[in-house]
Amino acid sequence: MDVRRNLPAVDTLLAHPALQQAQRYHSWRLVRQAIRMTLESERSRLADYTGRTEHQPTTLSLETLTDRALERLEQLALPSSRSVFNLTGTVIHTNLGRSALAEPAIEAMAEAARYPMALEYDLESGGRGDRDRLVEPLLCELTGAEAATVVNNNAGAVLLTLSALASGREAVISRGELIEIGGAFRMPDIMASAGCRLHEVGATNRTHARDFQTALGEDTGLIVKAHTSNYAITGFTKSVSERELAAIAHAHGVPFMVDLGSGALADFSALGLPHESQPREAIAAGADVVTFSGDKLLGGPQAGVIVGRRELIDIIKRHPLKRALRLDKLTLAALEATLRLYRDSDAPQRDIPTLAILTRPAADIAATGERLLSSAQALLDDIDVTLAPCVSQLGSGSLPVDRLPSYALAWRPLSRDRHARERCLRRMEAAFRQLPRPVIGRIHEGALTLDLRCLHRPADEDTFTAQLPALKQRYESQQDRHEENQP
Ligand SMILES: *Cc1c(COP(=O)(O)O)cnc(C)c1O
Repeated sequence: MDVRRNLPAVDTLLAHPALQQAQRYHSWRLVRQAIRMTLESERSRLADYTGRTEHQPTTLSLETLTDRALERLEQLALPSSRSVFNLTGTVIHTNLGRSALAEPAIEAMAEAARYPMALEYDLESGGRGDRDRLVEPLLCELTGAEAATVVNNNAGAVLLTLSALASGREAVISRGELIEIGGAFRMPDIMASAGCRLHEVGATNRTHARDFQTALGEDTGLIVKAHTSNYAITGFTKSVSERELAAIAHAHGVPFMVDLGSGALADFSALGLPHESQPREAIAAGADVVTFSGDKLLGGPQAGVIVGRRELIDIIKRHPLKRALRLDKLTLAALEATLRLYRDSDAPQRDIPTLAILTRPAADIAATGERLLSSAQALLDDIDVTLAPCVSQLGSGSLPVDRLPSYALAWRPLSRDRHARERCLRRMEAAFRQLPRPVIGRIHEGALTLDLRCLHRPADEDTFTAQLPALKQRYESQQDRHEENQP
């Protein structure tokens, strides 16, 4: 007799009080889907036993099936794009979505989502407008450039600029600046995609002005300087300054482009942070075009900003890739609101979350740690929790060598067995990831380390604490499952 016949019907489960109750919060369609998936997985578990006589399985009880269906329902109802706690110690974390937006930017985005907007429409004349106009005057004011345009991200900004200004010609760049940013963004590859011929000059550690001068010829389309944002060359080094490169380029009649990467609009030194080059400085040094990201140190939405001389920006805007890479209205609205804060706010370091997090004093982070410590310490039997000093990184290829003093909760397994400690760390990491708002930390020197720098709002602290009982439950249920699976 096939035990699969004993499984209840979908309707039987649908009529169960717990699943009836669930239909108050979820659609009937979703509940039914969860039940079907539960029964399907139970059916295939049982199918593994057919034909075997020695070990006949029994079907799960109605109550257990109901619980499984409720679990499944919870999973189905969770959106894939979920917010998490970034306690990795890397503030601008590309895999965790980089910068969180300022409140005015969030409001602007919601407004743009809800209503039609004058995106490419000139309200004065009633004629067609240009979507760049929403941010161009602000970008010019904040960087000192004559003109500006924006695209989907900085990789797109670099690709578009190279394509528009140097396709079919040579782009001259120092060997020390052939950067890889991650993913497939490598300067030589981007140049090839843009149809430029890479002309590298100098050596990895040292490049001189004369290297550029001798490289320039009939075929030169552009001189490029790339900010070596995710590494530092130290020791016996030499590079050519923006001012010198601009002079060399202009004497030869070719444009000079700087890919700044981060593009901090605030003066970082004045905020007590390590100095970071600003687009304004590159423009003042004579760069003809400067590109940078919207969601790195600028603290806005994902975008690529191109600022520079009017005639070059016009050429860039006319290139077909510009249309392919253009920004949508939501991003434009968020970018405009963020830029306005740089122009209008008395304290952008308070109003722009990325800057607020970066400038957060270590003592303030320690205070958060003190408040969380006692409930964390009492939580798990086999884990010791301490508050330990650590260093945060800015991340996303910003300031590779500069680190910010911070504090972390270090969750350290107590077992004496190395393998047991290792398993315990993995279980804990997984349990944190399974929370309603997943917590992402980092394993460092035998402990799961949660850098508290990004837990900067009181509300976040409360959410974190409110999840601790669930953490205990997930951690312990993983332990049980682990033991079940032991031979
Ligand atoms: C980050 C970075 C890029 C790529 O920018 P995205 O916004 O990630 O597309 C390009 N160049 C440099 C120097 C960078 O730091």
